[in-house]
Amino acid sequence: MLKFIRDILFKIKDAFVGHKFLCDSCMYDYGNACVRPERPNAIRCPDYKKR
Ligand code: SF4
Repeated sequence: MLKFIRDILFKIKDAFVGHKFLCDSCMYDYGNACVRPERPNAIRCPDYKKR
């Protein structure tokens, strides 16, 4: 249930603020450090860590 509410809030935020890709400021965005398929355009990521 909490995930559902969180997803709805993210959709509302995206609609108003637009997308900002997490990878642009993620410390794993280099070389082969990250192999997630959503890279480099992740807008949500459980592995995100700010540089
Ligand atoms: S860990 Fe997530 S946010 Fe970071 S580079 Fe990989 S896909 Fe992007």
